[in-house]
Amino acid sequence: MSEAQLIDGKAQAALLRERVAAETAVLMREHGVKPGLAVVLVGDDPASQIYVRNKGEMTLEAGMHSVTIRLPAETTQDELLGVVARLNADEAIHGILVQFPVPPQIDPAVIQSAIDPDKDVDGLSPVNAGRLALGLPALTACTPVGCVMLLKGALGTLRGRHAVVVGRSNLVGKPIAQLLLQADCTVTMAHSRTVDLPSVTRLGDILVAAAGRPEMVRGDWIKPGATVIDVGINRVAGEAGKTKLVGDVHFAEAVQVAGRITPVPGGVGPMTIACLLRNTLTAAKLRQS
Ligand code: NDP
Repeated sequence: MSEAQLIDGKAQAALLRERVAAETAVLMREHGVKPGLAVVLVGDDPASQIYVRNKGEMTLEAGMHSVTIRLPAETTQDELLGVVARLNADEAIHGILVQFPVPPQIDPAVIQSAIDPDKDVDGLSPVNAGRLALGLPALTACTPVGCVMLLKGALGTLRGRHAVVVGRSNLVGKPIAQLLLQADCTVTMAHSRTVDLPSVTRLGDILVAAAGRPEMVRGDWIKPGATVIDVGINRVAGEAGKTKLVGDVHFAEAVQVAGRITPVPGGVGPMTIACLLRNTLTAAKLRQS
């Protein structure tokens, strides 16, 4: 059997960012509205620092207004709630994202609930998660939307396909399953208590791996010809004392079995920021209308 075709998330994300930039220019020209995204970082987690810097740069590249607020690791929940309240009231800001993880004195659920649902470009507030579950228009979590865009780009219609999602987090697994249901897939959700996981994953015409377990999904867990979306981003020990990024799928084995597959890096990751910009544009358009 020939090797799986790679799904190029980097290229698709670049196209999406171009489209968002073009629509942003139209919104500014015709309505004088410049979409604004505020990203709040609490503490100095090194990976989060990189994500936040990238988000700021790409927001500016898309022609949007970008605000980055860096707060010390000792920031209290009340202080962070105060920052969120100020951003909720700020007319120049259409999207608010608090970068997770936050320090232990802060409850992420409390912060998510405090963000104005119309500015919740992460799509994680109870209002937007509930709207998604009810099939109503919503600002939807960026990584899940990016995954489904990649699937539609690779396969066209998803109707009738059996999709297996490994992972049931509020951030990734659950919203992906909701979006796949909306796309008329038959959806199976698997998690850490699933019995005989390989026999479940082998059912999937589509297999989405979002477990946060490096290279857990082996080649013989995959239905031959299936489309595999690897959401996992795991830093592991590499050669010569260096580290490297791997997904939740054992890529070298999977590429021999799958029909199409996303690489790590260069698959789902780049789509996440592109979808964040898209959500910011959507939020700005909603405010304007
Ligand atoms: P969480 O840790 O919140 O959730 C992991 C899920 O996987 C849980 O539902 C858990 O089950 C399940 N799980 C864990 N171990 C197993 C196992 N051995 N077998 C089956 N299921 C298992 O992680 P996230 O959802 O936040 O993230 C998942 C992965 O996606 C991570 O690698 C993360 O880095 C990556 N990620 C990538 C993004 C991107 O932009 N590409 C963005 C966000 C996340 P249970 O509920 O039973 O505990």
